[in-house]
Amino acid sequence: MNGEITFTIVKPSSISRNHLGPILTQITENGFKIIAIKMLHLSTYQASAFYSVHKGKFFFDDLIEYMTSGPVVVAMLEKDNAVDDFRKLIGATNPEKADNGTIRKLYGIDMQRNAVHGSDSDENALIECRFFFSDLEIFAD
Ligand code: ADP
Ligand code: MG
Repeated sequence: MNGEITFTIVKPSSISRNHLGPILTQITENGFKIIAIKMLHLSTYQASAFYSVHKGKFFFDDLIEYMTSGPVVVAMLEKDNAVDDFRKLIGATNPEKADNGTIRKLYGIDMQRNAVHGSDSDENALIECRFFFSDLEIFAD
C-alpha cells in the first residue's frame, strides 16, 4: 500500500460554506478512490494530538480553535503516488500562493482556513489514517 494512500481532512470552513460536495468531486475526478470517510466534530484533545508536530508554533492555538469550531470530514484516499499527487491537487498552504485550479485556491480563505489537509509523506499518511480509522472502517476490495 506504500505510495498509494493519503489522508485528507475537509476543514470546518469548507463544511460550513457547503463546499464538501465540490471538493469530493474534484478529488474523485482526479483519480482518487475514497476507501474510508466520515464526518466528526473534533475535540480539542483530538485536534491537538493530530497537529502535535506544530505544538509551540505561533499559529497552533488558533489552528486548534479553528479545527474544533465545527464538523470536519476525514477521508482515506487511494491512488498511485497518492501523497505527492494530492499535495499537487490541493496546492500551497497559503491559498493566495496556490496554483489556479487547486482546491486551496478555489476554496481556501486564508493561511489558516485553507480548505483541506493533505498528508506530507507516506509514513504520515498511514499514521493519520490510523489515527481516525479502524480496520473495520477501511473498505478493501
Ligand atoms: P500544510 O497543511 O500545507 O501541510 P502545515 O503542516 O505547515 O501546512 O500547517 C498545518 C496547518 O496549520 C495549515 O494547513 C494551516 O491550516 C495552519 N497554518 C500553517 N501555517 C500557518 C500560518 N503561518 N498562519 C496560520 N495558520 C497556519
Ligand atoms: Mg502539514
